[in-house]
Amino acid sequence: MSQQSRIEPGFFTEVSSDLADRSWALTSFDKLAQWARTGSLMWNQFGLACCGVEMMHFAMPRYDCERFGFAPRGSPRQSDVMIVAGTVTNKMAPVLRKVYDQMPEPRYVISMGSCANGGGYYHYSYSVTRGVDRLLPVDIYVPGCPPSAEALLYAFLLLQKKMRRVGTIER
Ligand code: SF4
Repeated sequence: MSQQSRIEPGFFTEVSSDLADRSWALTSFDKLAQWARTGSLMWNQFGLACCGVEMMHFAMPRYDCERFGFAPRGSPRQSDVMIVAGTVTNKMAPVLRKVYDQMPEPRYVISMGSCANGGGYYHYSYSVTRGVDRLLPVDIYVPGCPPSAEALLYAFLLLQKKMRRVGTIER
């Protein structure tokens, strides 16, 4: 995707004022696809430990992530984002990778909490993977033990920003 196809700040304001004035607007397919994709991120939950509770909190009415178009999805085959929330053990690693492999491209990963980021408290344990980035390419790291639901919401907003910057059709 070329530099020209990126959504510039003010793009949506411009489109809304065009629609208000003339009832039609002109845009490119790239921009339209990017807008649709960033506004409908289906996330595949991979709650592994205590961070998973904050991830559930993120989906509940107080934070209402669906107002941004972030909806949980039970199947990896229709998901765009995987949230790895909690301690990844070596035993769980092949399962995690298998679920990731079932997700269609372009796919994104959010690593939530110190354990997923680098092993956390269990960094020196024989059974814990020292960071999910040893298994999958991570797009956004959320620090904390556990990170708050607000932090996860912010991570999604940053992911949207990254997707707009990098492009949506190809990675
Ligand atoms: S980062 Fe903290 S809250 Fe999250 S899974 Fe690890 S120990 Fe639990």
